[in-house]
Amino acid sequence: GGAAEPPPRLVLDLERLTQVPSEKAGPLQRYAATIQSQRGDYNGKVLSIRQDDLRTLAVIYDQSPSILTEQLISWGVLNSDARRAVRDEDA
Ligand code: C2E
Ligand code: C2E
Ligand code: C2E
Repeated sequence: GGAAEPPPRLVLDLERLTQVPSEKAGPLQRYAATIQSQRGDYNGKVLSIRQDDLRTLAVIYDQSPSILTEQLISWGVLNSDARRAVRDEDA
């Protein structure tokens, strides 16, 4: 991608997130619920989050942002376009 490309949107699939076992998804479930509560955004099937939130979640999960991104994509809770958000900074 070119330097002028906008960063991809990071979109969590909230329905899918409820289906992932909570021993894996618990921290992300709590994080997403906190954002929903702060926004007063309770009825969405998806939740757009900040680029910074992915970095924060990587610290919480003790993973690099790119590894965590792959994990969330494999659970089906994050859109695959999100890869572009971490590719640039890992390079
Ligand atoms: P804040 O960061 O001081 O943002 C205040 C308000 O600015 C937000 O109220 C929202 O109306 C707007 N805003 C800030 N950044 C963005 C953005 O990137 N996109 C859009 N569309 N609007 C933005 P809101 O939504 O009621 O959120 C209240 C507070 O809840 C925020 O205060 C922030 O502290 C927290 N929050 C909400 N969503 C997120 C999130 O996705 N990630 C994080 N880290 N905090 C969030
Ligand atoms: P989009 O970003 O592709 O989002 C498509 C639809 O996904 C949204 O339709 C909404 O139903 C859902 N969605 C995405 N993120 C969230 C979220 O964090 N919470 C909830 N509850 N639903 C979400 P909607 O609302 O009709 O918006 C249509 C389009 O309008 C969006 O497409 C986007 O391009 C624009 N838009 C809506 N809200 C914002 C915003 O806060 N900031 C910006 N920049 N664009 C927005
Ligand atoms: P968006 O609303 O389309 O915002 C795209 C980008 O514009 C944000 O990426 C951020 O870099 C910048 N931006 C938009 N509004 C503000 C603002 O009020 N203050 C600042 N400092 N920057 C702003 P980012 O942070 O990665 O957020 C991605 C998407 O996550 C946003 O798309 C929005 O859909 C959602 N989001 C993030 N924070 C909030 C929030 O506090 N409240 C709500 N309602 N949505 C948020």
